[in-house]
Amino acid sequence: MKRAGFLFLACVSAFINGCDNSPRLYKDSRLMMGTFVEVISPEEKAAAIAFGEIKRIEGLLSKYDPSSEVSRLNSAGQLKVSRETYDIIARSKEFWALSNGAFDITVGSLVELWGFKDKKYYFPLKTEITQTLKRVGTDKIILDPVDNLVKFAVSGMQIDLGAIAKGYAVGCAAKKLRENGIKSCLINAGGQIYCLGLKSGKPWLVGIADPAKKGISGKLSLVNKAVSTSGDYEQFFIKDGIRYGHIFDPRSGMPADSSVASVTVVSDDSLVSDALTTAIFVLGEEKGRALAEKFPGVEVKIDKEKERDKDGK
Ligand code: AMP
Ligand code: MG
Repeated sequence: MKRAGFLFLACVSAFINGCDNSPRLYKDSRLMMGTFVEVISPEEKAAAIAFGEIKRIEGLLSKYDPSSEVSRLNSAGQLKVSRETYDIIARSKEFWALSNGAFDITVGSLVELWGFKDKKYYFPLKTEITQTLKRVGTDKIILDPVDNLVKFAVSGMQIDLGAIAKGYAVGCAAKKLRENGIKSCLINAGGQIYCLGLKSGKPWLVGIADPAKKGISGKLSLVNKAVSTSGDYEQFFIKDGIRYGHIFDPRSGMPADSSVASVTVVSDDSLVSDALTTAIFVLGEEKGRALAEKFPGVEVKIDKEKERDKDGK
C-alpha cells in the first residue's frame, strides 16, 4: 500500500468552511487499488464519478485484483490486453529508457522475494537475488502494437505497476470529473493527489508529510496540478540497524539506497508525477533532477536521508 505522503490542510479548511459562507465540501473515501482513495468536492456527485473511474482502471492494472489484465498477464506470461493497458506498459517502457533502467515495472519478482507483497519481510541470499534478477528488466517485455499483445521473454516475470497505476488512475478520474462539469475537487489516492480547480475560490493547500513523521516539511498551493510523493518511510523493515524500503534498484536487486528519504513531484500530468517520484528516489538527487528536467514544468522537492538522520531518526 502506498504511503500517505501528504497531510491535508484541505481538511482543516473544510472544517472552517462550516463557520463562514463558503460552500459545503462533501468528503468520501473508499479502499481501492490497495489504498484509501479520498475525494473532496463541493459537488456531491464528484466522489461517485471519481470512484467509478478508478474502479474501472483497477480492473485493468491492479495487482490486488486477480482478474485484472495485469494479474492475468502475470500468470499467463502473455496476453492480448486492452489498448489502455498496452499504452501504460508502453509508457512505463519509456520511463525505463529515460531513467536508464531505474524505473522498471518488472520489479514484481523482487517485491515478492523481499516479502513486500504480503508484508512478510525477508532478507534474501545473494544467490536468490541473482536468480530473481533474471526475471527483471523491462527490455524483456515484448510489445506488439498490432493486436496489443504483451509478452514476457523470460518465464515467471511479474509486472508491478505500483509506481505508476495510481497516478494514471487519478489523472483519468480528474479527466472524467471535468467531462461531467465538476470544477472543484481534490482526489487523494494514498498520497497521489490531483487538485482540480479552486477550493472555495482559493488554491487547494496540501502539506507534504515530513519523512521523519514530525509534521509537515512543506506546503503546496495547487490549482489543476498533480502531486505525488515517494519515500521509504511507510513501507520498510529494519535489519541490523539498516532500513530496507519498498522501492527497488532494479539493477542491483536491492532496495534503493540513494540517500533520498522522500521525493515530491508536482506536474500537470498525474502519471508523470507518480512515475518520476519513484524514478528519482532510485536515481538520487543529481541524476533524478536531470531526469525531471526532461519534463518541462515539473517541480521537484527532495528530502535527504542525512537530514532525517541528523534529527536522530
Ligand atoms: P511509489 O510509491 O509510486 O514510489 O511506488 C512504489 C511501488 O512501485 C513499490 O511498492 C513497488 O510495487 C513498485 N516499485 C518498486 N521499485 C520500483 C522501481 N524501481 N520502478 C518501478 N516500480 C517500482
Ligand atoms: Mg510512483
